[in-house]
Amino acid sequence: MQANNTAKKVVIVGAGISSLASAVLLSAKGYKVVVLESSKTYGGKIGLLTLGGATFDAGPSLCTDVATIDDIYISAGLNPRDYWSYLPTSEITRYFWQDDFSYIMPAGRAQIERSIVRSFNVNIKNLSKYYAEINSAYQKSIPVYLDRQPSLLSTLSPRGVRAFAALTPFLIQYLHIRNVNKLQDPKLVQLFDRFATYSGSNPYIAPAVTALAGALELNDGAYYPIGGMRSIVEGFYNAAKKLGAEFVFNSSVLSIKTLKGHVAYVVTKQGQIKANYVLYGGDVAICQVC
Ligand SMILES: Cc1cc2nc3c(=O)[nH]c(=O)nc-3n(C[C@H](O)[C@H](O)[C@H](O)COP(=O)(O)OP(=O)(O)OC[C@H]3O[C@@H](n4cnc5c(N)ncnc54)[C@H](O)[C@@H]3O)c2cc1C
Repeated sequence: MQANNTAKKVVIVGAGISSLASAVLLSAKGYKVVVLESSKTYGGKIGLLTLGGATFDAGPSLCTDVATIDDIYISAGLNPRDYWSYLPTSEITRYFWQDDFSYIMPAGRAQIERSIVRSFNVNIKNLSKYYAEINSAYQKSIPVYLDRQPSLLSTLSPRGVRAFAALTPFLIQYLHIRNVNKLQDPKLVQLFDRFATYSGSNPYIAPAVTALAGALELNDGAYYPIGGMRSIVEGFYNAAKKLGAEFVFNSSVLSIKTLKGHVAYVVTKQGQIKANYVLYGGDVAICQVC
């Protein structure tokens, strides 16, 4: 943990999961963190619906990469179990079609492949190849793009070149087209088109690289965060507050003015805040301020 960043102020735009995780890590490193969120609460797409005393997750419902969430707490010097907990599930997802056909995807690679072959019109060789390709591209991407900030050096290294070669077929094709070509059965194609929704994307216009999210559930299964998906962002919010991050809700960032010497002004309706660094955690497509 570093304590030499106390004078530096970071303004984080948005309080979705990415911003909250950043608020935890940056506060732990000694930065003075201010999070500006346009809505009245934190969590972004990971929302909560309360109906008649019962609560429902609004938005994401499938939790996979729990180790990464735990790592954020550990990197911040916190015990993840003080903030959230989870249980592995024996099922990943349930699918229902309008013609009453349904399918339950179990956890575990062998179980998934067996059950898909039993339920859909696909041969095991094609299915295994599909999974092997996404898994190989995903594994090769981890050390170059996911575990660290990619640099020119890491992308041009032999490992970087291998990762890029494995990713290329996924970057030049839409997910839906790849699924049609590789899997044929229309219902199975719909099922695998779901991988794009991990990032809220449309499989008809999203690159096939979105299929790599499937490697997570394939290798590691799915988890029930105790208390629902909302507990993930609740944990990050509580941790960030504990570490000193300040949250301002109902505060829409209208523009960011950059000045010389690592200084910016983040402009909201209420006024402007001077910052050494600004981190934008909103949607790219609706970004009015970048
Ligand atoms: C329908 C749906 C289902 C999904 N299902 C899953 C799933 O099952 N599993 C999974 O892992 N992922 C799923 N995802 C993807 C996942 O929800 C997102 O990747 C993730 O929540 C995005 O978090 P984020 O912090 O990047 O952005 P967001 O959650 O979008 O947060 C951005 C925040 O920034 C705020 N903001 C934006 N602009 C400004 C501004 N100018 N000033 C101040 N605040 C601003 C917004 O109000 C918002 O709170 C799903 C997505 C969707 C849409």
